[in-house]
Amino acid sequence: MQTSQKELKLRIGSKLVAEKIEPLTGAITTPIYQTTSFAFPVGEKYRYSRELNPTVERLNELVASIELGERGISFSSGMGAISTTVLSLIKPGDLVSLQMDIFGRTLRFFTDFLSKWGVKVKVVETGTLPTDIIAKPNFVFVETITNPLLRVPDLERLCAESKENGITLIVDNTFATPINLNPLMYCNAIVVHSGSKFLIGHNDVIAGFVIGSGNAMNSIDLLRRTLGTSIDPHAAYMAIRGIKTLKVRMDAINQNSLALAEFLEDHPKVSKVIYPGLSSHPDYKRARRLLRGYGGVISFEVKGTGNDAISVMKKGNLIIPAQTLGGVNSVISHPATMSHRSLTAEERKKIGLTDTLLRLSVGIEDVEDLKEELDRMLSDSG
Ligand SMILES: *Cc1c(COP(=O)(O)O)cnc(C)c1O
Repeated sequence: MQTSQKELKLRIGSKLVAEKIEPLTGAITTPIYQTTSFAFPVGEKYRYSRELNPTVERLNELVASIELGERGISFSSGMGAISTTVLSLIKPGDLVSLQMDIFGRTLRFFTDFLSKWGVKVKVVETGTLPTDIIAKPNFVFVETITNPLLRVPDLERLCAESKENGITLIVDNTFATPINLNPLMYCNAIVVHSGSKFLIGHNDVIAGFVIGSGNAMNSIDLLRRTLGTSIDPHAAYMAIRGIKTLKVRMDAINQNSLALAEFLEDHPKVSKVIYPGLSSHPDYKRARRLLRGYGGVISFEVKGTGNDAISVMKKGNLIIPAQTLGGVNSVISHPATMSHRSLTAEERKKIGLTDTLLRLSVGIEDVEDLKEELDRMLSDSG
């Protein structure tokens, strides 16, 4: 299943749907090789599906091609991808530097788990670059759009400093997606994704990916085989299917989100709107330079108390109250008591995550229906 020259020249929307016709049957979609094992010696290449499976292999090629990497590796979850990547490259005594307002489980993996294994972890304040610390780190982990404050770090500077100081840069591109940003256009970083969000996009698959090049990818793949954080062939098939609509979904989501961010900014019950596509956002200029679209997550503060925010969320109907994001349906959550509950009150305060903050993940619904729904949720009678 070599990638042909013709395919490499395709634009992303076409790469997403391009299929390789299987010569044996002519099936026009990638089949699910739902098998644990392959008969010997027929399958010289394939032996056991934790190690390598043809459906998974096709998914690996797809994610590599849309993220402009040499190689892609699929995992059973985003956390499987992140933990396997970091564990395969890091050693005791190394110093890792990361942003504070990143995905809660990622933060806990570094601060609670790795610190017990002799890794030094330095968490920098929101808006500060992880390279801006006194000792030079061996590793830097950033999200291209952070959660839930949607900060956009200076990728160009991070790339330059990583290159200059031999720092391994790991970039979580889950919120931006390859439609809005390809970090590998800026430098030779390692890109990680939760496939469970925008990438696969239908709230029905948990998966993760790593894209990059060189020896690091061999080490990561080897540890995936050892730890068993591999994706199974059925989930891989669902992932290929979901990713096919990434461009049409993200085009709609980018458009809906900008319209809703502007709508919320004018709403009398909303005190603050955080969206990188609004000129009021602290990273607006950088977001305009780096991002082709501003993504599907809007955070906003409602007037009143934390409980008022929770009751706005609970009125959601078309907009589902739930702790996820990135699907075709709009979803709303209360980070302080949901996704970011594992942070201490002090940590939440430091990153500026208030009790009245709600996080909206915008779907592909008709935007006028979403405006009406938000208006109803924010009104007193509801
Ligand atoms: C959800 C998420 C993860 C973890 O991915 P899972 O697939 O849930 O394991 C990592 N990073 C970001 C930015 C996420 O939103």
